[in-house]
Amino acid sequence: MSDSMPCVLTIAGSDSGGGAGIQADIKSFQERDVFGTSVITAITAQNTCGVQGVYPVEAKAVQQQLQSVGEDFFISAVKTGMLFNTDTIALVANAISEYRWKNIVVDPVMVSTSGHILLEEEAIDTLKTKLFPLARIVTPNIPEAEHLTGLKIEKDIDILKAAERILSMGVKSVLIKGGHKKDEYVEDVYVDEKGVCIRFSSKRIDTKNTHGTGCTFSAVLTAELGKRNNIDEALMTSKRYIQSAIENVISLGHGHGPTNHGA
Ligand code: PLP
Repeated sequence: MSDSMPCVLTIAGSDSGGGAGIQADIKSFQERDVFGTSVITAITAQNTCGVQGVYPVEAKAVQQQLQSVGEDFFISAVKTGMLFNTDTIALVANAISEYRWKNIVVDPVMVSTSGHILLEEEAIDTLKTKLFPLARIVTPNIPEAEHLTGLKIEKDIDILKAAERILSMGVKSVLIKGGHKKDEYVEDVYVDEKGVCIRFSSKRIDTKNTHGTGCTFSAVLTAELGKRNNIDEALMTSKRYIQSAIENVISLGHGHGPTNHGA
């Protein structure tokens, strides 16, 4: 590795099954040629069949990991994933200000596809008020966008309404990922505070092996922003990466298999 390699940070939960969370992020960073550091906020006992247990990491340990990374590395982009509770969100927001981290990608992870709670209900407001204003971009999927805004997203126009509502929470830009809709094409919609709107479309691949795709998308985006790429280029690279990972899926485990990073 060259000593000029960009360093990025993921602040997220561990997935013992290796498909989502910290593990997906670090694999994505490696594939996109950035050096990945990590702050682990929770340990999940998890596999392709679901989440069997969630163990939040105590605040002091989260704080110390943030400090260890913040005091040593020059971090050019940060991804936040599963933060689980209010204490952790507050610590993360403080660290972002203290270490002047930029290019913050907030993936508002709330519930796993298998239905397990990954963010306590009372922490959602803290996420909106403390972390969103620090974000370069927030990347909800459709259920997360619905939860954040209280809107039901059915038609195309509803996506734009939800994006506007998320922008009004003080974020610079939002990408609503369309993978949960069942249309022939998956459309991700990007909107920023200046009114720029970009749509990223791809053919839907019919597979159940999509565990960790949300984490992977945001991790690639973080890597690309960490390399100082423009947001539109970074989004395009992330979209291509995730499409290829889903097209070349590997079947592992007995449930929803992980995305294929080497694809
Ligand atoms: N587990 C962890 C630690 C995560 O960060 C996420 C991601 O959002 C998930 C599980 C959920 O993954 P999925 O909904 O793709 O199964």
